[in-house]
Amino acid sequence: MKTINKDLLSNITILYVEDEKMIRDEVSYFFSKYVKNFHTATNGQEGLELYNQIKPDLIITDIQMPKMNGLDMIKEINNKKIPIIITTAFSDIDYFLKAIELNVNKFIIKPINLMELVKSIQECIYNDVIRDKLFEKENLLKIVDENVLISITDKDGKIIDVSSAFCDLVEYSKEELIGKTHRILKHSDTSDEFYINMWQQISSGKKFNAEIKNRKKSGEIYWANLTITPVIKDGEIINYTAIRQDVTNKKKLEQLAIEDTLTGVYNRRYFNKIMEKELRRTKRENLNLCLLSIDIDDFKKYNDTFGHPKGDDVLIKVAQSLKSSALRATDFVFRMGGEEFSILFSGLDLEKSLEFSIELVKKIENLQIEHIEDRVVTISAGLVCMNANDILDEEELYRFSDSALYEAKARGKNQVVLFEKE
Ligand code: GH3
Ligand code: MG
Ligand code: MG
Repeated sequence: MKTINKDLLSNITILYVEDEKMIRDEVSYFFSKYVKNFHTATNGQEGLELYNQIKPDLIITDIQMPKMNGLDMIKEINNKKIPIIITTAFSDIDYFLKAIELNVNKFIIKPINLMELVKSIQECIYNDVIRDKLFEKENLLKIVDENVLISITDKDGKIIDVSSAFCDLVEYSKEELIGKTHRILKHSDTSDEFYINMWQQISSGKKFNAEIKNRKKSGEIYWANLTITPVIKDGEIINYTAIRQDVTNKKKLEQLAIEDTLTGVYNRRYFNKIMEKELRRTKRENLNLCLLSIDIDDFKKYNDTFGHPKGDDVLIKVAQSLKSSALRATDFVFRMGGEEFSILFSGLDLEKSLEFSIELVKKIENLQIEHIEDRVVTISAGLVCMNANDILDEEELYRFSDSALYEAKARGKNQVVLFEKE
């Protein structure tokens, strides 16, 4: 959707809530040209009052604002039908997670790209427009072509038609896409199993829906919420139609909310979340839950000698090494802060858990990263491994592994100590 659909915009009422005057002025100046009923409010409370007066077709709102924030406003409005676009800064991550739960339609990352905002608005309201214009067929096809990310393949997956909107998204022309398969958009992170599973479903006549990571012609990543529907005629599949929504922004924010930016492993915020979930699951399944607390040895001296940037490189290498060992679907690696990491895993008995932990420590030593005085970088670790039903709460597990880590340091570092209750 390259174009601004003036017809569509001129017929709707928008409520825009933003506390920062500069941003508010810029956005409303832009939209005053296209949207006749464009109303602004400076905080959630004002937004709520205005909402009740003007009953807008769509809401655009900032998150962090004085008096009442954007999310509380949405909660108060409590209207699941109205499309909501949130403009958010990366610093709003904590709020962002709550916004997902509130069923927000779109996320625009600040600084606001006005064309992106236009695009999002048009995508949000086009459903209503279709309903209104259902009988003007020509018009409908044009709207679909410009607004819906659609591709149609034959039964073997060869593309036979695509919408202009889809071409714009993936940066390929119609001519480049027709005759090819969607493999042209495959991202290496999307596994073969994903496609196998997808083909199993659709070739048996079922609808398929999933979020998928793809790449554009330029190599840029995009995430799509994809729905593929088999078209069946006389009992046989003749085509597949694929429709998707661009959910890249949502994904980027989700990623950022759970990842440590330096090392790419999970962050502490996610640790709290996963810990809770895993404790519940392992209790239910009556499994061992194990936590390994890890701390790099004499890292202050390392930084003092080699400098902070080199220290950062070490953190990345250690994180990668830990990650490459923790491969099961229920293994989680976290950076807890500074030079401290932890690994949460489950389902192993005590002996196997200890073996696994000792190997991790050895593996770091074997990286042979130069430290001072002819030494190499090492880690110390404290392991706690208990049947989940004997664990009081998450805090207890953390406390136990931390005290074992303390003991590992006291016993001379570069080793694992297993926590044992007296
Ligand atoms: P110990 O063996 O007892 O753990 O000693 P230590 O020096 O590793 O522990 P201490 O807690 O005294 O020092 C931790 C050091 O970690 C302090 C700081 O220089 C370094 N550090 C913390 N966060 C970062 C980071 O993000 N990057 C870098 N390069 N260094 C960090
Ligand atoms: Mg430390
Ligand atoms: Mg340390």
